[in-house]
Amino acid sequence: MQITAETPFKASILPPSLFKTPSDLPALNQNASRMPWQHTIKQPITCVGVGLHTGRQMRMTLSPAPADHGIVFHRIDLPGSAPIEARYDNVICTRLSTVIANELAPEVRVATIEHLMAALHANGISNLRIDIDGPETPVLDGSAAEFDFLIQCAGVATQAAPRTVIEILRRVHVEDPNGAFAELRPARSGFALAISIDFTAPAIGHQRHAMPLTLQRFRQEVGFCRTFVERKEIEALQNMGLARGGSLHNAIVVEDDHVLNPGGLRHPKEFVRHKLMDAVGDLYLAGHAFKAGFMGHKSGHGLNNRLLRAVFASSENWRLVGNEVHSKAAIHATA
Ligand SMILES: [Zn+2]
Repeated sequence: MQITAETPFKASILPPSLFKTPSDLPALNQNASRMPWQHTIKQPITCVGVGLHTGRQMRMTLSPAPADHGIVFHRIDLPGSAPIEARYDNVICTRLSTVIANELAPEVRVATIEHLMAALHANGISNLRIDIDGPETPVLDGSAAEFDFLIQCAGVATQAAPRTVIEILRRVHVEDPNGAFAELRPARSGFALAISIDFTAPAIGHQRHAMPLTLQRFRQEVGFCRTFVERKEIEALQNMGLARGGSLHNAIVVEDDHVLNPGGLRHPKEFVRHKLMDAVGDLYLAGHAFKAGFMGHKSGHGLNNRLLRAVFASSENWRLVGNEVHSKAAIHATA
């Protein structure tokens, strides 16, 4: 990666079309945030930008989808290819980003979905068709803020179907030998997250952040926080074919106690807050929102995915609350 302030790409957000979806129910929209309904977007919207790891220019269109559809990606550059459901058991790689693929065709994949998934989770979007002409979502500014902006531009439509929530019934914990762990615990209501990180780079160091997941708190505290990398890692990443689209416009780059981005940080705890945002995105691959508490220490995409697999490995860990009949099929419990 060139450490340069030159703009390597032009991300552009195209105006939404005038298409109106049948699922657009204005009568329900007035109280959308207070009512337990499913949501999609009101009209299609497109963005264009470079992929963080591939370095390729990607065009992605979000479109409304009917109730109980879920979040589904389509690789339109691979005509006739199978769709890819945004589900934890379709995750095939978690090295630096979360990559999903069709279970029958691993070459039909989409990488770096976590920031888009975080914005969808925070906005309560449960049904969406995503057309993309390459193997990775555009990274845009390296945070979830521009995906959130896309959703705002398209508008949120409430659908005439109740939403489903996954209630965690007992503590589920996964860990790595280095002390990193991730866990979900029962909670009385809502979904709250607490996460801590510990980096040797003094510019990052030890940071902790906790918050309940609401759209307002997401926007105020974590949605704008960018992905980050240590400068010494960049060459090795690029030799592995990763980070080829990275620049100071879509990632924080640190070296010892310095932040190399000319504009500095957007928040002193931007690093841990980005990690919390990543978890919001990764955990939405459960297929529904949670009634639970999440705790993570030095956790990342790999532990987040192992945690979901551990949850759904036993039906004693969880139950569906709400639209159970419709949503049982959306969760592929492995036990
Ligand atoms: Zn991230």
